[in-house]
Amino acid sequence: MSFFSKSSAPIYIAGPCSVESKAQLHEIAMAFKSMPIQFMRAGVWKPRTRPGSFEGLGEQALQWLSEIKKEFQIPIAIEVAEPAHVELALRYDVDVVWLGARTVVNPFQVQRLADALQGVHLPVMIKNPVTPDVDLWIGAIERMEKVGITDIAAVHRGFSTYAKSAAYRNEPNWIIPIELKRRRPELILINDPSHITGQSAHVAAMAQRAMDMGFDGLMIETHPNPSSALSDAAQQITPAALAVLIQELKIRTPHLEASNCAN
Ligand code: PEP
Ligand code: MN
Repeated sequence: MSFFSKSSAPIYIAGPCSVESKAQLHEIAMAFKSMPIQFMRAGVWKPRTRPGSFEGLGEQALQWLSEIKKEFQIPIAIEVAEPAHVELALRYDVDVVWLGARTVVNPFQVQRLADALQGVHLPVMIKNPVTPDVDLWIGAIERMEKVGITDIAAVHRGFSTYAKSAAYRNEPNWIIPIELKRRRPELILINDPSHITGQSAHVAAMAQRAMDMGFDGLMIETHPNPSSALSDAAQQITPAALAVLIQELKIRTPHLEASNCAN
């Protein structure tokens, strides 16, 4: 059975940018009990742009995640950036792994991860590369497929920009996910409004826009106390805000039109 499949109900993936404590995970999992969250995302090793930032708690975080998974019966997703991460994900019974935007730019690293994932039957999410290159994104997907991985979702998290006037942390560049969808219509396509906007106040509007454009689901960073988060503090929303977002999200007939593509 596939973990990712097309359905009329959106796929909701939510959880903290980084695992910070067991209490943090517990509070989030408690709140998710009354929400339609398919699985919890949580960063264990963080690919920070500059050294010296919080880089994640590694194996300790995996231990807490496996305890939370058992206690709440919620599937867990983590980012893997090295073959050793895949090994640990398997040891701690992680349900889904994802490749981050900084990893997907490097075909050698993507191939090493594909080789590590070969034959282990884990669903894989592949974020868009930081550069607006649809072939690089599709290439990473194909590298997974070539080793026999079929349970795949693509995650649109926007593209780096140097523009001082940019409204968001990462440019949505909608034409790229639209082109991915044109070339691979059967693929599950998830939107990550947290990393696109970089600002909690804009997450709900971005999520609505993505759903209106026919995305299959959302990945949203959620933290009990966003302002004290050790990574991506500005863009995380509380579980209570996530509940409101989901409740207010309108599921309309999607319209992938050129007029929607202006960034
Ligand atoms: C994340 O999901 O926390 C993350 C690091 O994302 P990205 O690879 O999109 O920057
Ligand atoms: Mn993050």
